[in-house]
Amino acid sequence: MPELPEVETVARDLGRRILGATLVGARSSWARTLRSHTPESFGAAIAGRRIEGVGRRAKQIVIELSGGAAMTIHLKMTGQLFVVPAELPLDPYVRLVLELADGREVRFRDIRKFGRVGLYGRDPGSGGLVSEVGGVDVFAALGPEPLDPSFTLRDFRRRLRRRKGRLKSMLLDQSFVAGVGNIYADEALWAARLHPLRTAQTLHPPDERRLYQSIRSILAEAVEHRGSSIDDYTAPDGDGSMQEQLQVYQRTGEPCPRCGRPIKRVVLGARSTHYCSWCQRLPAADRRGAAAILRGATAGRRRSGGRWAELAAEAALGLTPSEAARAWARASAERTRRAAATRRAAARASAAENEPA
Ligand SMILES: [Zn+2]
Repeated sequence: MPELPEVETVARDLGRRILGATLVGARSSWARTLRSHTPESFGAAIAGRRIEGVGRRAKQIVIELSGGAAMTIHLKMTGQLFVVPAELPLDPYVRLVLELADGREVRFRDIRKFGRVGLYGRDPGSGGLVSEVGGVDVFAALGPEPLDPSFTLRDFRRRLRRRKGRLKSMLLDQSFVAGVGNIYADEALWAARLHPLRTAQTLHPPDERRLYQSIRSILAEAVEHRGSSIDDYTAPDGDGSMQEQLQVYQRTGEPCPRCGRPIKRVVLGARSTHYCSWCQRLPAADRRGAAAILRGATAGRRRSGGRWAELAAEAALGLTPSEAARAWARASAERTRRAAATRRAAARASAAENEPA
């Protein structure tokens, strides 16, 4: 799922193409894509509005419109945005089309249909995005933007010390800091040499500083590389290259770039977590609680069977269990990459005439 760097890239690409354009209407083929309106009322509500800004808050794109309105686009798992001439044939996965007065269209393509688009007003008092005047800001629950210059180490420490959770789940919690997801949480924790199951209370001031710096530097680096094109992510101006810079994410079984020991993977809360158990040590205080969680995660994996059946097949070929585990991990990563390449090729085909005149 696109995280802060991917959404930032989409917002910047989109801004370059549509800033100053005027919306004339919308067509929707999947009503639930629209968070705040029916397809009919949405088209009427955006018609005639000029696009005055394209930005991002957390993992959502925010399009500022004339007349004190703003559109939010949450790509979720498979959402993609393309700006194309209206005459280009529509592919079946396009759920929403925003029609521009200049003959182009912004197409929201979303295979899994989890993406959501909302239209809100700017509250004249608070400046927040609201469904009605005086209503609740749609972004009220979000934590600070980690790349914002106003987000200081002091702020981060204050927020951290109020929390009791384990670091991985805290980083994924959008009310703690906004925009971090599975990829960059794993990368930031590895860079800071902190175990994903470590609790916030056991951190010393230097640990807190390393985590703060790692989160910011990994996100900034990923923005520079236009994000990680893993699974379905691509942007209006093309794929990112951050996937080539990732040190642990989806590198199970490969040597840790710091110590050479194999990267481990464990499923926590239905999400894969990648880490190095040597570089990311747990302090004694966290070991017992973490051991129970890791045991549960391993039992769950054993029940699922698939991986172990493949390991058994590899063992029959004469590989040691650790060689088999690495071979399995490589094969699995390769399958993921191939499937993603196929999906992105389909996306590019739909946007073949992508370049504006
Ligand atoms: Zn290591």
